[in-house]
Amino acid sequence: CGIVGYVGHRQALDVVLGGLHRMEYRGYDSAGVAVLTDGKELVVERKAGRLANLEAALDVKGRATFSGTAGMGHTRWATHGAPVDRNSHPHRDSTGRVAVVHNGIIENFAALRAELEDAGVELSSDTDTETTAHLIALAYDHGDTAGDLPASVRTVCRRLEGAFTLVVTHADQPDLVVAARRSSPLVVGVGEGETFVASDVAAFIEHTRDAVELGQDQLVVIGRDGYEITDFHGDAADGKPFKVDWDL
Ligand code: GLU
Repeated sequence: CGIVGYVGHRQALDVVLGGLHRMEYRGYDSAGVAVLTDGKELVVERKAGRLANLEAALDVKGRATFSGTAGMGHTRWATHGAPVDRNSHPHRDSTGRVAVVHNGIIENFAALRAELEDAGVELSSDTDTETTAHLIALAYDHGDTAGDLPASVRTVCRRLEGAFTLVVTHADQPDLVVAARRSSPLVVGVGEGETFVASDVAAFIEHTRDAVELGQDQLVVIGRDGYEITDFHGDAADGKPFKVDWDL
């Protein structure tokens, strides 16, 4: 029930885990992280249960495996599929190049799953979310959205029904993180040489108080030097800037 994404100059794993801890009060049943490493790999760990389970799994793998300055994290409140490791987010496409975290419900997931299965895609979880990872990978690999991650995410968002906050990373795009929303919260945190996205400002207020709230059906691309918001058709759009003035 919380999402955080980061591109900056710190270790993404530390920022993301810190953000997930700050959102623990919202409740969750599983958690996961993805980091785009310096070696252009997308590394993922995810675990049912408390964040402590995830952190223990990260220690077993070795946190050095997760060295990189862009990444994302998720705490899940299961709606589709039991709270077990393989249903935990991030979800990936079959090649493991695309990773997605999602809060909300994709109402038309059954039709999307059927379409993917007809195309020969094997799904590895029971979630509504996993469909989006495969669809984004297909859009990134084919047609006029090929090689363009934001355009691929926009194309897929236009097909989704329901409520979603999505954060998406691609191994071939190590310097950006894409996030989108419909009927579910998404805010950008603007720092110096670093940018955050989250479902809740609590995830980043220890780093920055400069926030921008996204409107309905908007997408944001974050990088080290800032962010860019569009609607789901690619037209430039404005978020709503504000200062977070609560005390920690
Ligand atoms: N519907 C998704 C799932 O069950 C996301 C749930 C959430 O909001 O955490 O995996």
